[in-house]
Amino acid sequence: MSIDRSWRFTYLNHTAERYLQQERQNLLGRDIWQCYPDLVDSGYYRVYQQTAATGLPGRHTDYYAPLDTWFEARSFAHDDGITVLFRDVTREREHAAQLEFEASHDYLTGLPNRRKCMETLSGAVAEAASPGLTQGACLAVLFIDLDQFKEVNDAFGHAVGDDLLRGFAKRLVAILEPEFFAARVGGDEFVLLLRNTTENAAEAFAHAVLRELAMPFEACGRSVCLSASIGIALLRDAPESAEALLSRADTAMYAAKSSGRIQVCAYDGALDRGMRDRLALRMDLREAFAANQFELHFQPQIALADASPIGAEALLRWRHPQRGLLMPHAFLDVLLESPYEATLVEWLLNAVCRHIGAWRRLGVSIPRISLNLSARQLLCVELTDLILRIARAHDISPAMLDIEVTEDSLVSDIEKATSVLAALKLAGISTSLDDFGSGYSSLGYLVRLPIDTLKIDKSFVRALADSEKASAIIRSIVGLARSLGMKTIAEGVECQHQAAELKDAGCDAIQGYLVSRPLGSEAFAEFMLRM
Ligand code: C2E
Ligand code: CA
Ligand code: CA
Repeated sequence: MSIDRSWRFTYLNHTAERYLQQERQNLLGRDIWQCYPDLVDSGYYRVYQQTAATGLPGRHTDYYAPLDTWFEARSFAHDDGITVLFRDVTREREHAAQLEFEASHDYLTGLPNRRKCMETLSGAVAEAASPGLTQGACLAVLFIDLDQFKEVNDAFGHAVGDDLLRGFAKRLVAILEPEFFAARVGGDEFVLLLRNTTENAAEAFAHAVLRELAMPFEACGRSVCLSASIGIALLRDAPESAEALLSRADTAMYAAKSSGRIQVCAYDGALDRGMRDRLALRMDLREAFAANQFELHFQPQIALADASPIGAEALLRWRHPQRGLLMPHAFLDVLLESPYEATLVEWLLNAVCRHIGAWRRLGVSIPRISLNLSARQLLCVELTDLILRIARAHDISPAMLDIEVTEDSLVSDIEKATSVLAALKLAGISTSLDDFGSGYSSLGYLVRLPIDTLKIDKSFVRALADSEKASAIIRSIVGLARSLGMKTIAEGVECQHQAAELKDAGCDAIQGYLVSRPLGSEAFAEFMLRM
């Protein structure tokens, strides 16, 4: 359409007639603003005025309700006035909206995705920082991570996994209150944002989510129940970034997950330090093996009959570049839960064999070195082959090696454990049952296990001083071991009195501070030379 300098229609094509819902002859020569008073001060009005005043082209897009259509109007100035070109952009807009939806939502569940989650979270954090929030109310972020979802996927297939995620998302949406927000931020990770809530309400909601998960899902003809670990972080009064808030919820989730028992964990400062430490250690592990930061200390063991050395236990230490020498309690569970668990077994075997070789060259003969393996390390495939291969490479007799395992690692899969122990025995590698008496102590399985030595737990040794009962227990352990053809060694022996009682009870050997603390490789060699 064209309009002259006095805002009168001078030209309209057919499309313009349709858009303006008027026949051409009714409009030509009339003032546009009188014909369409609603448009005065609208976006179109401003753009036309501007083009007429400046001579510069203008552009305006707007929704036109009477036709349920989006129009783009472009205005151009000329000597006689202005000309406006209209274009129906409804389809383009829908397409753009779809693209925007897809870019901000997860295709599988239809929930907002991580990007949208961070946007919404940032908005909510900014909103919470502005005054006017209800007293006592706060913003809560819940980080949900499904338990063992990888296993579910592996066992039932990805189609079932996808179905479960969709099913869970649907239930989540159904229980959300209007001011809550839910997003899927990773494979099996979801984030909830609860506005104007309280700590108790947030926790109650977390439990409601768990109840939804515990009700069976029908997925591809199967019935599957799920569980999750949920971390909660609250934004109270201290200003904080969306990232920091989410990371606190993630940390709390990780704490819940690694506790193994608690499913919902609210974030607090202490947790932060502990968890941050563990997370940092987990990161540092990536360097530790390559940078040679692990080392072994050796604690001598002596026979009670004649105080002759019978060997030593190899104990792991981490010489951390920032934190100094770390003992196992500070890092072992992190290490054993990491992908480096298997690396440790090989490293340990190589290190022990290397030390034995080095001592031999110094003329120090060592009867036997014990090393500790966790449940999973013991049950990992081809342990015997691995040991034999490494021992051969270092020219060490397998009979110089002893593998210490704990009761709980045996009962987790008694059949497999029995066959691994039998294979070790066949290869001439001896085995010890560590911390005996501290765990299950089910005698039933003990009879069936091909084990060479029982290590009496230090708690019994410590109790010897003031308990008749401890002495009786030790006697019966020794008796039991004898009848099964096993030797006994007591751990944590710190004083002469304990050694004397143990000898009296018929125990074969001792290990503890009384004999020596764990020693570095060289100090251990010197100790052995003095013996
Ligand atoms: P454990 O196998 O029971 O090892 C004995 C622990 O008792 C050692 O602690 C040792 O230093 C300590 N100890 C020795 N004598 C005495 C004593 O007279 N009194 C007292 N109170 N304690 C004594 P450490 O070196 O801190 O090791 C702790 C645990 O870490 C070990 O307990 C073992 O379960 C685990 N561990 C150590 N090295 C390794 C390893 O290479 N692999 C695996 N999987 N676990 C390891
Ligand atoms: Ca041990
Ligand atoms: Ca022990």
